[in-house]
Amino acid sequence: MDATIVTQVDYDAVIIGAGPAGLFCGISCANPKFKVALLEKNSSPGKKLLMAGTGQCNLTHSGNIKDFLVHYGQHGKFVRPSLFNYDNLKLINFFEQRGLRMTELHSGKIFPESLRSKDVLEIMLESCKEAGVDLIYNSPAKSILKQNDHFIISTPQRSFSSRKVIITTGGMSYPATGSTGDGYHLAKILGHSIIEPSPALTPVIVKDYSFAECAGISIPNAKIFLFRCEKKIHETRGDLLFTHKGLSGPGILDFSRYIAKGDLLKVQLADFRNEEEFESDFLNQLHIHAKRSIRNCLAQYNLPDRLLNHILDNLGIANDDKASGLNKKDRKMIVSQIMGFPFEVGKLGGYKEAMATCGGVKLSEVNLKTMESRIVPGLFFAGEVLDIDGDTGGYNLQFAFSSGALAGQNME
Ligand SMILES: Cc1cc2nc3c(=O)[nH]c(=O)nc-3n(C[C@H](O)[C@H](O)[C@H](O)COP(=O)(O)OP(=O)(O)OC[C@H]3O[C@@H](n4cnc5c(N)ncnc54)[C@H](O)[C@@H]3O)c2cc1C
Repeated sequence: MDATIVTQVDYDAVIIGAGPAGLFCGISCANPKFKVALLEKNSSPGKKLLMAGTGQCNLTHSGNIKDFLVHYGQHGKFVRPSLFNYDNLKLINFFEQRGLRMTELHSGKIFPESLRSKDVLEIMLESCKEAGVDLIYNSPAKSILKQNDHFIISTPQRSFSSRKVIITTGGMSYPATGSTGDGYHLAKILGHSIIEPSPALTPVIVKDYSFAECAGISIPNAKIFLFRCEKKIHETRGDLLFTHKGLSGPGILDFSRYIAKGDLLKVQLADFRNEEEFESDFLNQLHIHAKRSIRNCLAQYNLPDRLLNHILDNLGIANDDKASGLNKKDRKMIVSQIMGFPFEVGKLGGYKEAMATCGGVKLSEVNLKTMESRIVPGLFFAGEVLDIDGDTGGYNLQFAFSSGALAGQNME
């Protein structure tokens, strides 16, 4: 045994990681007869939660919980029991009953009325303390082993013994918050498989990007098509943001789980069913307004001025070029760029920019109805350490809370 470990402390359950999943698990399972320790490697809990929603905390979404299931890629089936057991209404009630009112902003996103993540964290900490959870900071779990019917969890200062353990160490995004993939290592020691992690909810860096001057422009509800080896493999709709290095905004972040280096993204900038429909409308405008400039004819399609100017400048079309003088080749080029401007994916943003992690503990090795390992009885998982990544809009936090609650209810 490590010579620096001086004591071993016994608990009924040990939770590893004080993010939203770990804190909610503690709130759900601790009671005077069930002694729970929550180990956190940082000197304070919930660092990532404090950053959520740019510090305002978009903790869930409005609407029927059934509608949440499509927001977890291919994993709607796995998240269902957790979300149905502890849904968005229960979560909202939990905070409102403790004096933190909730408000709905930006198409269904739920925030605390105070718009402060800190208030959300404080309520969870108070509730953990009321439940009798021992919060132990500066205690990174370094290794874990199972001896007969109990686990031994080692930190540099002490070891802990418990009958039940839950790993809630999060994924790998924003590593400065403490989420550095430790849970994968611990799960592997105990025989679990890890689906190769990669950054999720991350911006796209575009190869040979020429739109840096358009940074800050956003296109609401843009249609985005994804091509691989010249074949369309996915499409989506969502708000898109031009950045200095490429594309971001919820439409791209949510889509990033499907995107790979070398793919082609085509962004539709005008709201028509297809190129033919747009071309016919555009032709009509060119005929009716033959004396106006081409730029003027295009202005009615609600494209931001800066973006339209950039596209036309790149095509060599001057400010005062008249509609009547537009040749077929240039018209076709305008139509194809507005209905599907092509951006080659240079790479995806790394863990420092990603809001979530794709991959993690393999779902088929975890009982979705209890969150208990199918391999090691008494071992549980919740939150982002699992191979779950949700869309932007409150879906990741709702899963962290719901899976933490479900595990907690089954650990006693
Ligand atoms: C910038 C940003 C903004 C976001 N905004 C939103 C949002 O508005 N809405 C939303 O739904 N989602 C948002 N997310 C995603 C969301 O915050 C995460 O999905 C969620 O925090 C995951 O919760 P978790 O408890 O599983 O893990 P985490 O929050 O990552 O917590 C894991 C905890 O475990 C600790 N830990 C790690 N290893 C060890 C160890 N070995 N021993 C002890 N402790 C350990 C870590 O220090 C950390 O405190 C955002 C993410 C980022 C990065």
